[in-house]
Amino acid sequence: MQILLVGAGLSGAVIGRRLAEAGHDCRVIDSRDHIGGNCHTSRDAETGVMMHVYGPHIFHTDDEEVWNYVNGFTEFLPFQNRVKATARGGVYSLPINLLTINQFFGKTLRPDEAREFIAAQADRTITDPQTFEEQALRFVGRDLYEAFFRGYTEKQWGCSPTELPASILKRLPVRFNYDDNYFFHRFQGMPRGGYTPMIEAILDHPNITVELSTPYTPDMASDADHVFWSGPLDGFFDYELGRLGYRTLDFERFTHQGDYQGCAVMNYGDRDTPYTRITEHKHFSPWESHDASVCYREYSREAGPDDIPYYPIRLVAEKALLGDYVTRAEATEGVTFVGRLGTYRYLDMDVTIREALDTAGVFLENMTSGREM
Ligand code: UDP
Repeated sequence: MQILLVGAGLSGAVIGRRLAEAGHDCRVIDSRDHIGGNCHTSRDAETGVMMHVYGPHIFHTDDEEVWNYVNGFTEFLPFQNRVKATARGGVYSLPINLLTINQFFGKTLRPDEAREFIAAQADRTITDPQTFEEQALRFVGRDLYEAFFRGYTEKQWGCSPTELPASILKRLPVRFNYDDNYFFHRFQGMPRGGYTPMIEAILDHPNITVELSTPYTPDMASDADHVFWSGPLDGFFDYELGRLGYRTLDFERFTHQGDYQGCAVMNYGDRDTPYTRITEHKHFSPWESHDASVCYREYSREAGPDDIPYYPIRLVAEKALLGDYVTRAEATEGVTFVGRLGTYRYLDMDVTIREALDTAGVFLENMTSGREM
């Protein structure tokens, strides 16, 4: 079969690889001049630092098959994300843990005492939190919410946490011990040479051809037996029903001689700091040594038509529009919509890979059982 995969990010690469291994001809196209989508990494020309060009990507998963899969294509080195936050004139440890609580409130609480203390701060009148703010008030109380979540979230999402779903905050744990690893997952690491060589290795198969700087045109689909679309869902339909909202990011690059902030990611909780965080990229590759450093100040704003989409907004209005697009997508024969943009979801890399492996598996199974796609 001739398979067209639109998008050379994780979804396109992983699906393409599986289908190529099963003997299909896979043509992967991407409108950008590099593979890897927003996971793309490249060395900074001036300093040689490995850059997460579209913002920080830390690989973490509980899915052993996915972990073995990525390790089959590149060498991962141990890396744990230990985020710090500057708020109210202090520097604290994230995610909120016992150190954060003790330093923020000037206490020396042990785990059980801290649990009780935070429970006493929490708003018990909220029984079934629906919004981000309700979720925060219910679980950490007003002081921590206002210092670490309210300002950051307003900047990140451009709206009040009262308008956002509780699910966004549920991504972040609160710990009553000194574990400051941002993620809970068993497997965590960073590819030694960055993500782009890993995706290059996934795409490196005799049945796969990759064409960069190649925007999709509908005639390409007629040459293919099946299309996997990992571009924006609404983009496939020429935005006929309207545009699904995205946040985009602007990175303000600056260099520094030595170590600028002492960690990879520093979040800024205060409202009057206009950026959400500063990323110092050399700390993502602690096994390398560079005197010079490159940092990104990260600003979030609503994506315009020509901006790179990052975070799907998924507020109430978008959900209705999304439903209409999903209905159209389901009725579109010969096309499978995949990945963060193709399904308009906030997906971590491991989930993207898991879904891609499953999607390819279902496709191959349906083919052998002769079912229609
Ligand atoms: N968040 C926050 N303060 C922080 C970090 C995160 O309020 O210091 C909120 C914010 O709304 C963000 C969400 O928690 O969108 C999820 O955070 P995560 O670190 O998972 O975001 P990502 O790394 O995907 O941008």
